[in-house]
Amino acid sequence: QLDQKVNVIGKDEIAELGNAFNHMTDQLQRVEQSRQEFVSNVSHELKTPLSSIKVLTESLMFQEDVPVEMYKEFFEDINSEVDRLNNIISDLLTLVRLDQREIPLNIANVDINEMTQNILKRLTPLAKKKEIKLIYESHKDIIAEIDEVKFTLALTNLIENAIKYTPSGGEVGVVIQSDLQDAFISVQDTGIGIAKEEQSRIFERFYRTDKTRNRETGGTGLGLAITYKTVIMHNGSIQVESEEGKGSVFSVQFPLRHVWEGGTK
Ligand code: ADP
Repeated sequence: QLDQKVNVIGKDEIAELGNAFNHMTDQLQRVEQSRQEFVSNVSHELKTPLSSIKVLTESLMFQEDVPVEMYKEFFEDINSEVDRLNNIISDLLTLVRLDQREIPLNIANVDINEMTQNILKRLTPLAKKKEIKLIYESHKDIIAEIDEVKFTLALTNLIENAIKYTPSGGEVGVVIQSDLQDAFISVQDTGIGIAKEEQSRIFERFYRTDKTRNRETGGTGLGLAITYKTVIMHNGSIQVESEEGKGSVFSVQFPLRHVWEGGTK
């Protein structure tokens, strides 16, 4: 009976099934590999600040007659390593929740200009500290169906990066536009820029460019991954154009009306 069945299915179909199966196995292997890479990256990123804390506490513990100033200095360093651990863990939690869609999008009509101006207001002290000029440009009212909290975080990451990776005295501009279907937000800076070969990698989790890897910018390498994921969840897209030493432009596009999975609301 089995022979008959095989005959009915035919050799070509069996070969096709075999190919499909191989393809599936390849995909599973790739998923498993990226999962392992992610876990090893997470461990590495968490271990670095932990090792610093360990070195700092041990040097205080085993040294006799430590002057008060030294205590203070070491505790400040320990404190900033603890802050760093905190940032990494909270970014990781955000990403994991986005991945699992644990919290569904809370879609509402949002005034994009108001949302952006609120973000810029919050980032003004950071820009002032670096003497960076914040420029905002928008020509019309734009209302879009988005999750305001998640989108605010996504846009904050872009503007914060623009400030972080621009030397003192530079400029950061946010331009908002729309047509009948889509909204367009671009974040431009006159900063250090991103090398061509690295531009496609900056949205990866924990990826930091050669130029910034050893800098004390306090980044986690997760910000752009969160932004990317959020934009995709809003059925949008994000692109980067950049030239080293000149600056970068991040362009986000997303539909004004939210497209619900599986059809209309
Ligand atoms: P981080 O927390 O390190 O800023 P992100 O995921 O936000 O991580 O960004 C990833 C990397 O992309 C950064 O470490 C930096 O190397 C690069 N990058 C992001 N935005 C900019 C920018 N505006 N100018 C130059 N480099 C940038």
